[in-house]
Amino acid sequence: MSRKTAGPEIERLVQLLARLPGLGPRSSRKAVLSMLKRRNELLVPLSEALQQAIAKIAECPVCGNLDTVSPCSICADPRRDQSLIVVVEEVGDLWALERAGVVSAQYHVLGGHLSPLDGVGPDKLNIASLVGRARSPDVKEILLALNATVEGQSTAHFISDQLVSADVTVSRLAQGVPIGGELDYLDDGTLAAAFKARRKL
Ligand SMILES: [Zn+2]
Repeated sequence: MSRKTAGPEIERLVQLLARLPGLGPRSSRKAVLSMLKRRNELLVPLSEALQQAIAKIAECPVCGNLDTVSPCSICADPRRDQSLIVVVEEVGDLWALERAGVVSAQYHVLGGHLSPLDGVGPDKLNIASLVGRARSPDVKEILLALNATVEGQSTAHFISDQLVSADVTVSRLAQGVPIGGELDYLDDGTLAAAFKARRKL
């Protein structure tokens, strides 16, 4: 049995933080120590921010985004392009696209990808609500910005089949050579995709 070096409250904090992605027990201990040392600047405001998030955070009934207002800030923003819905697997993907600032459109968060082996069928994802949104006369294009994985791409195929009856263009992100990428370092799949998607100069 490992020797206890701190009281149960601190141990519990370390264990909880260690469950976060990117934080193992070691970095979790470091983070907890840092918070304990900076009680007023860090620990108290963090605890308040967590309480507020618990009280207010909700899944947007329209797009599946997580926010403290409902519908979410993106759905409620009238300056965004109403004709394009960008479909992503997770809220983190939405955040990444927003950080890049490449698009000012609507989003739709699926909540994952199809994975029959893990019991994730179409009913476990926000697909039916997407088909409903695609039928709105305002919507002209659905961009499937899903991961370039086998699961992501088979989910994209499934969704595009569901959208056949809706009067929309279905598109997907380009695949290929990353910005600054050297051909010699690319994997075969990326090279093949880039070759297939070649464009006239
Ligand atoms: Zn929303």
